[in-house]
Amino acid sequence: MHRPRLAGLALILCLAAAPAFAKAHKAAAPPPAPPPPDPVAVATGLRDKALNDPTAYDFVESLTTEVGPRLAGTVQAERGKDWALAKLKALGFTDVHAEPFPITAWVRGAESAEVTAPFPQKLMILGLGGSVPTPPEGIEAEIVLFHSYADLLAAAPGSLAGKIAVVTQPMPRTQDGSGYGWNNRARTRGPVEAARRGAIAYLTRSISPSDGRLPHTGKVWYVPDATKIPAAALGVPDAELIDHMALRGKPIRIRLVLNSTEIPNAPAWNLVGDIKGSSAPDEIVAIGGHMDSWDPGQGAIDDGAGMAVTAAAATLIGELPRHPRRTVRLVLFGAEEMDYASKPFADAHQGEASRYVAVSESDTGSGPLWTLSLPKGALDAPALKAVPSLMGPLRIIVADQPAQFSGSDFAELERTGVPAFSFRPDASRYFDIHHSADDTLNKVDRADLNQSTAAFAALVYLIADSDIDFRALAKGQPAPSRP
Ligand SMILES: [Zn+2]
Repeated sequence: MHRPRLAGLALILCLAAAPAFAKAHKAAAPPPAPPPPDPVAVATGLRDKALNDPTAYDFVESLTTEVGPRLAGTVQAERGKDWALAKLKALGFTDVHAEPFPITAWVRGAESAEVTAPFPQKLMILGLGGSVPTPPEGIEAEIVLFHSYADLLAAAPGSLAGKIAVVTQPMPRTQDGSGYGWNNRARTRGPVEAARRGAIAYLTRSISPSDGRLPHTGKVWYVPDATKIPAAALGVPDAELIDHMALRGKPIRIRLVLNSTEIPNAPAWNLVGDIKGSSAPDEIVAIGGHMDSWDPGQGAIDDGAGMAVTAAAATLIGELPRHPRRTVRLVLFGAEEMDYASKPFADAHQGEASRYVAVSESDTGSGPLWTLSLPKGALDAPALKAVPSLMGPLRIIVADQPAQFSGSDFAELERTGVPAFSFRPDASRYFDIHHSADDTLNKVDRADLNQSTAAFAALVYLIADSDIDFRALAKGQPAPSRP
């Protein structure tokens, strides 16, 4: 809500008109606090400052240089935890702490693959996260090739007995990342579907629109009622190589070696820091990213950038002379990639869900952001009327449709009814490097990072300084169509 400013103006005029009176009563009570600033003016100032602020880039530069990759459950992840706790304190966050939870950590070992017949040559592969290992000497078998994931699903039970299943479905390049949503089933669910049809190992073309040779990893989802078979991603050109070999009509044999180990009850942490609200500190607007990363790269775009953007936005809000009414909470989740962090956070904050005004995770790279979805009814609330004006100059479309989902780590909290807002970054290039050894600092664009920070800072401030109640708005009528 906008605050009434007339009372403050009247007070200023009154004081200006009576200097002699003021001097004669020096010992009297101090003058009342100045009126609160106009929230839209503050949000505009935050947005414009963020566009030239070094905090976000410095965050991800420091993280990738001083820590590097942070596979959950490893010593690197623990170093990341220590780094982040110190960094948040240095940036001015309060109540900075780690919320521990145990995970089954997965650690990659030596890996290799090669075509042994009919045209022997090495392949670039990367084991999928959580994959069971092969025997030490590896698995060598004839392959069955599928050009689409749907073809694999159409294969009859038992038809892959003793074979290595290979899916080479290419991923389309899209701005909204929908190509990933469509294709990554070949990675997450493919090993289970292949095992159900008798396969002894599984290879998928990397889930990436890139033409680069580095393979892209990601989690495999095993289920209790299917045999766990070793699974890896092929580099995109290596998947195409197998397509070409298959055109020659001869049986193709591949040897796959995957060594990995698991560490039961390994430590992981969700990290929390607050910018305490000035008058309603128990009400929380929570943003963040995830601290863990895959092992081959530096964890720069996934998700150093998302943490950097949200940490910098909260830091800028914390540097204001007057904090917003509500608390801005930063959460850096500790095991997103293996899908372990969301429930521990919701469990640790059980009973507090009603205090969360809104949540949002940043987890699709450094930007630029191109759409914003708000909770239902929010755009018609007086407190957020200025959002399209604030986002327009940043080239961000404010969607009429309400936000559905704000990221996997807040999912458990959202399931309890906590409202979410969602910025969507341009994902046209993101999946070229995502989950690969190419996820490095030099892929982070400073201008994009600052545009993302500007958008988060302005919006989060407006929500945090308001008394907007998204749950109440959601119960109202559907939003009218806008001009
Ligand atoms: Zn991520």
